[in-house]
Amino acid sequence: MSARDDAPRQQFELDERGFDEVPRKYRKYYRRWAGASDALGPNEVLCPVCKVVVRSGRELRAGDRVYCMACLTRMRVKRGAGRNPWEADVEY
Ligand SMILES: [Zn+2]
Repeated sequence: MSARDDAPRQQFELDERGFDEVPRKYRKYYRRWAGASDALGPNEVLCPVCKVVVRSGRELRAGDRVYCMACLTRMRVKRGAGRNPWEADVEY
């Protein structure tokens, strides 16, 4: 575990982005993916199943479990290999 993993997680103020496929109180936790040019933030990970961006109120870390309410997929966060800080492996 690196020193950075011990640092307090950055918090994020989430705003609604018009994602209406989940109940209203959960909408701020999701947004539509704008495609390959979409730069994801340190609190965002792309659902590999339905390609919706799952957003967290705090910075993500490797090993975090994330749930996509849009397609009912559970996933685990890992470091991104490309331009995005995080990617997700689907867990069953
Ligand atoms: Zn999904």
